[in-house]
Amino acid sequence: MTKQSMLAVVKANAAPGVELQTIPVPKPKAGELLVKVKAASICGTDISIYDWTPWAEGHIKPPIVIGHEVVGEVIEINPSVGSGQAVYAEDIKIGDLVSSETHIFCGSCYQCRIGNRHICENMELFGIGRNGGFAEYETIPIRTSCKNDRSVSIEWMSTQEPLGNAVHVVTKANVAGKRVVVFGLGPTGLCAVAAAKAFGAREVIGINRGEYRRKLGKSMGCDATYDELPKTLVNQCDVVLEMSGNKECFTQALEAVRIAGTMIAFGIPKAEVSLNVGKYLINKEMTIASVFGRRIWEPWYQVSDLLKSKKVNLGKIITHEFKLKEFEKAMEIMKSGKCGKILLRP
Ligand code: ZN
Repeated sequence: MTKQSMLAVVKANAAPGVELQTIPVPKPKAGELLVKVKAASICGTDISIYDWTPWAEGHIKPPIVIGHEVVGEVIEINPSVGSGQAVYAEDIKIGDLVSSETHIFCGSCYQCRIGNRHICENMELFGIGRNGGFAEYETIPIRTSCKNDRSVSIEWMSTQEPLGNAVHVVTKANVAGKRVVVFGLGPTGLCAVAAAKAFGAREVIGINRGEYRRKLGKSMGCDATYDELPKTLVNQCDVVLEMSGNKECFTQALEAVRIAGTMIAFGIPKAEVSLNVGKYLINKEMTIASVFGRRIWEPWYQVSDLLKSKKVNLGKIITHEFKLKEFEKAMEIMKSGKCGKILLRP
């Protein structure tokens, strides 16, 4: 029998910090699953929420259970379809291990109808705009749940979401046979390194200030790593993936792109970034594109294939594991930058 109350990491107030609270176990609404969380991983977004950045302020109305990179076991299914919304899902049964897509789409807006559900106009974000998975139990809409292949480990299942972002970035950039530079070797940047290799990049170079993550970059497949862009690489890179969200990196990334090269912006800068349109965009005739989340569902299938075939080894970037109740300790290490992915277990 399901417990009545559970432990959860709650953004309780519109201020820095979070609270560990005992709250009622949620009930799945029409078209939702009740899931017993097995593992969750901490994302850079969770740091923004913890610190209460302007971005967090604009996206969160406390109280909210945070956490969006999760895997858990389905223990209840409420299949009835409410308010005319279609249920999109593989055949999900009790006992299945599912993860949640963070971008909860409406299914009926213009973007959803033309195949861009990941950038739905009415998007609700799991663990940000609605209760998430840093808890013992969570509810997930059936239409945004992804059934996991059991040959993949629980640990890897919980970190698919950032790899999905990386796969979307890498496939949008079309990296096969090319020299690729990745700015920012945080977990998603590290996933981008591995994904670029898996999708056939000729050479992958990682740029990151901290040495700890440069080492992780090497283990994920970087041919070379630097603390900043070396002069020898200015105008020499076919594809540049900006995964850091750092203002200076954004300019270095534009410097790195060769004439008629491609840059994909993924990292979200904390403040406005200016762009020299003449020098970069026009003179280089370069392509700048951006990625917000995973397309639904193609990258999830690609991620599953990369993990099943062991072409990407997420074990190399999962560096720490904590109990849910040790969240503060985990957050401290997360903020130090001396970690890859940090797992939480209820
Ligand atoms: Zn929509």
